[in-house]
Amino acid sequence: MEFRLKGSFKCSKDVSEVFDGIEAVFADANKTVLTKGAPHGEGASSRLLGIESGRVEFEIKSGRYVRAHDALLRLKKALSAYLGKEHHIGVRGVEVDAFTVKIPSDEPPKPMKIPFVREISYNAGMINLELELSLKELEDRVPDRIIRLIEEKIAKKDFGGKSEHWELLTESEPKKRIFNKDPTEEMIKRRWLIHGAVRGQWIHGIQITRIFRAFERIVVDEILKPLGYAEMIFPKVVGWDVWKRSGHLKGVYPEIYYVSPPQSRDPELWEDVINYYRVTQEVPIDMIRERMGDPIGGLCYAQCPPFWPFLQGQTIANESVPVRVFDRSGTSHRYESGGIHGIERVDEFHRIEILWLGTPDQVVKQSKALQERYKKIFDEILELEWRSAWVTPWFMAQEGMSGLSEKGEVGTIDYEAILPYNETWLEFQNLSVNGDKYPKGFNVKLQSGEELWSGCSGVGLERWAAAFLAQKGLDQENWPDRFSAIVGDVEEGAVRLV
Ligand code: ATP
Ligand code: ZN
Ligand code: MG
Repeated sequence: MEFRLKGSFKCSKDVSEVFDGIEAVFADANKTVLTKGAPHGEGASSRLLGIESGRVEFEIKSGRYVRAHDALLRLKKALSAYLGKEHHIGVRGVEVDAFTVKIPSDEPPKPMKIPFVREISYNAGMINLELELSLKELEDRVPDRIIRLIEEKIAKKDFGGKSEHWELLTESEPKKRIFNKDPTEEMIKRRWLIHGAVRGQWIHGIQITRIFRAFERIVVDEILKPLGYAEMIFPKVVGWDVWKRSGHLKGVYPEIYYVSPPQSRDPELWEDVINYYRVTQEVPIDMIRERMGDPIGGLCYAQCPPFWPFLQGQTIANESVPVRVFDRSGTSHRYESGGIHGIERVDEFHRIEILWLGTPDQVVKQSKALQERYKKIFDEILELEWRSAWVTPWFMAQEGMSGLSEKGEVGTIDYEAILPYNETWLEFQNLSVNGDKYPKGFNVKLQSGEELWSGCSGVGLERWAAAFLAQKGLDQENWPDRFSAIVGDVEEGAVRLV
């Protein structure tokens, strides 16, 4: 990586008389502050280009260690100290005339728009960025974020376009195949459910609801009660600040269902809309859009982020860890676009979210305890053909967390079940140890001063049902006895149509 920055310091008075003194500051800085922290010979170097009354023009070149924009701030400090002390002159501002960054990449970048980047080009294995920014952005570390963003895009490509690295952990015995149809199709035929009025949504009839509730009872009785989890109710509209802190705003935009309140609840504002609808019986979407406020956030996407403001800025007492809670109070929503399929990929789904916090050791232990109990449920109650895999999302591989991930501590386990009707594996739940990501993002600490970690696991009820019914079919007599007993008569109370 190479940086080249040309600019000038603006001083409060004419400094052309002290050229030699200023030149000496630059020469000294090159040997001291501009190399501090860098391997030998890898620091930044500055050059005084000229002085015109109060303007000190300079150039800085650097590699990745003391980046030119950091070097500039260090140089400014050194110059201010010298001019202030020796001549009672202040450095009032900085102008950046040209700032280019070269980042190695095997491929040219695709065209994109990034704030403060005037031009992006590619030449001889290097992406060239021309930045256009002021002192404020340099102080706010904007260049580092631009570089980070580009590096992530390169890394993502190098990750082979895959969103994660997949490694088998455990695998059940193969099970005898007794059903080979798409369970959603079969459920529609029996009217266990029908499509809802909006995309990616189902109206769940008595039978499938009874199955969901049976899954919930299993999770409560076999996992949550024995492991000491207590229920909470997390909000289901999630504000920007929460997603900012949880990291979701780094990329989740294409899948959010956005939430906007009305601009006002003044009936006057809405009278035209009401009149239009009353007269035409048509919904005036344009008129409604004009009266909507800005989005305040979106509907629940991942279930745990809206829990965290509960502890934000707080210190947890030693006796309260590991904190163990769960939420099953509402739906999650994702815009899955053309990907929606059956009940397994929907825009509106139901999930139990299990969340735990504690010392790293406690959090890893909880994860192991949950894994054991999940295995028992899948093997002994649902009798599924399933497997689990250790997945490292590419961004984690990026965030220097791959070390922890390789140790099998921080990262995600996906649970997958075979769908015999199309011979694909479906992720039906996951379990993550998130390290200090959330406690850091929401500024939560532990009384003892030890590191605080967290983990979470999302049990997708639609996905459990899709996996179970695809393998076992809809006829209750073919279901495993233990599960059948927990469900009771699946058809009891069903509405018959004529
Ligand atoms: P996929 O790769 O299948 O889209 P994901 O990686 O997006 O899954 P996560 O973000 O890990 O899923 O969500 C956790 C759990 O939430 C999943 O294991 C699944 O049970 C459930 N889930 C996620 N998206 C959907 C959806 N569109 N429909 C139903 N359940 C879902
Ligand atoms: Zn979560
Ligand atoms: Mg997804």
